[in-house]
Amino acid sequence: MLSPSGSTTRKLLLAFGALVALFTAASGFALARLTDIHDGSHALREAGGRVRDSLELATAVRDQYAHLAHTIILGNDSHARFHDEARARVETLTRRLREQARDAQEHTWVADIEQNGDALDRLYRETLLPAVVAKDQAAVTAAHGRALELVSQIQARADSLAERFDASIGSFEEHVGAVEHASFRWALLFLGGATLFAVGVGIYIGNSVARPVARLSEGAARLARGDLNTRIPEGDPGELGQLAAQFNRMTEALRAHQAQLVQHEKLAGIGRLAAGVAHEINNPLGVILGYVRLLQRKAEGALAEDLKVVEEEAVRCQQIVEGLLDLSRPGRGPVEHVPLREVCEEVVARLRESSRLGDVDVRVEGDASAWAWPPRLRQVLLNLVKNAAEAAGQGGRVALHIEAASDGGASVAVSDSGPGVKPEDRPRLFEPFFTTKPSGTGLGLAVSRAIAEAHGGQIDADTGPLGGARFTLRLPPASPAQEAMA
Ligand code: ADP
Repeated sequence: MLSPSGSTTRKLLLAFGALVALFTAASGFALARLTDIHDGSHALREAGGRVRDSLELATAVRDQYAHLAHTIILGNDSHARFHDEARARVETLTRRLREQARDAQEHTWVADIEQNGDALDRLYRETLLPAVVAKDQAAVTAAHGRALELVSQIQARADSLAERFDASIGSFEEHVGAVEHASFRWALLFLGGATLFAVGVGIYIGNSVARPVARLSEGAARLARGDLNTRIPEGDPGELGQLAAQFNRMTEALRAHQAQLVQHEKLAGIGRLAAGVAHEINNPLGVILGYVRLLQRKAEGALAEDLKVVEEEAVRCQQIVEGLLDLSRPGRGPVEHVPLREVCEEVVARLRESSRLGDVDVRVEGDASAWAWPPRLRQVLLNLVKNAAEAAGQGGRVALHIEAASDGGASVAVSDSGPGVKPEDRPRLFEPFFTTKPSGTGLGLAVSRAIAEAHGGQIDADTGPLGGARFTLRLPPASPAQEAMA
């Protein structure tokens, strides 16, 4: 039986599962690398923004100082508004830098900037501007000196922050570069590996699935062309191997069936012909035999010998005609429940009486019963025992083994100590007119098999326990109606 979850399905699932797993792993890896690169680029952009803010802060402080200087030069408060705008810009940028500071060092520097910025603003509004308006040159000079100091400190801190942020850009670039390189290497490796793996999976599927399927299809095509000797190599493991074995068994069964059909057709043809002519031949043969026997009584010497030969040949003709008639109607008659041992012993006794057993030792063993038409059953057994005795020859042995079959039927196996059947003769044993005996008709086994089959049974030949051939007659179990009668 082929199971749907058999090994071919498993193989295909395994191969495709492995491919899908590989591509999922590769995609997952690529996704992780891309996220890494994306994060790196984002960090790079942020660092760039921080550098820009630090540089802008330095510029804004310089602006603030410029307006402070203009206030001193012009000696009025006309630049106070511009100073405040520059101051607001410094404050905004300082706040942004505070949000972007990443460690204690950067926080300290931003705090310094804030402190100095506040101090500068206070200095401008509370000291410098009143001194300028009051034209107090000494106070203006002192305040200017202090303002310059504060601006320098703010600028120094802004420059330090810019340098530090710039350095972080370098390390981010390095990281992103390294990730890009690693991703490129892994992508190459995955690409190469996946190609090799896909080729491997292709070869594996080709060997374990595609090739056996191609062999099966080729075999089926040969069978379709009528080549009944087609056989498919059965070495493949799994259900394709089983399928090949089943295909071979099916082809063999088909071949045997066809041979049987031809045989049946042949027998039916012979039967029809025989039935037509046998009746016509039988009557003149009977007349010939009657006259020959009459003449034999009167004849003497050489003439008597010649008449004996004519009688023997006429008897042989009669046997052939009878055999042909048997072939044409092998099983018509009332079926009875027959004790097989009794029938076998009766057959042996009849053969012994007619001296056809010579000194051959014939034994009957076992017991069983079967449903058969007794005269036809006797005819089959008579033929098998006669053949066995002829094959065993003088001093030989023949055994009839009767046995009840497990299915309710029965069998009689006739074995002999003769030379057995030659392998080249075996396929032709049951063909009508096949004989190896000089005076044989070659109809005994053909008629016996036709009778066995008409009873729903069979006859097979093989090698028996006495060293010679063994012919086994198998009869089927009783039908329910027959059982009811038994
Ligand atoms: P016939 O006996 O007239 O030859 P059969 O049909 O009974 O016809 O037998 C056909 C052939 O089968 C025989 O000629 C013989 O070659 C072979 N045969 C039959 N029975 C035996 C046997 N017991 N041992 C060997 N060969 C046998």
